Amino acid sequence: MSDSDLPYIYAVIQCGHCGSELETDGGSWTCYSCGIYWETSNPYDADGSQAIFLDEEQEPCGAEATMSPREHHGKRFWDAPCTLPAGHRSEHYHPLAYESLEPEEPIT
Ligand SMILES: [Zn+2]
Ligand SMILES: [Zn+2]
Repeated sequence: MSDSDLPYIYAVIQCGHCGSELETDGGSWTCYSCGIYWETSNPYDADGSQAIFLDEEQEPCGAEATMSPREHHGKRFWDAPCTLPAGHRSEHYHPLAYESLEPEEPIT
């Protein structure tokens, strides 16, 4: 048995939302299901790399979330309208938004 009788490692970089395998040219990573891409040469260290619409002219999808707001530890949380570009093929993406229900603490 030689080394090549066993499988190779096959690393896949996935979209953080829909799990699709990202396509890359080495400098940017694209999710065609979500219609967005990230500009980074290193997807393993992409903290702060903001996704960009593939079609910069496209409007956000804006679909409303179905889950109602919920309260927890003095804050109200809700799912914001979908921020992906309109026409995306993946499921809607609703970033979590919140506001404080308690009055601001006066600064003493
Ligand atoms: Zn995606
Ligand atoms: Zn959507």
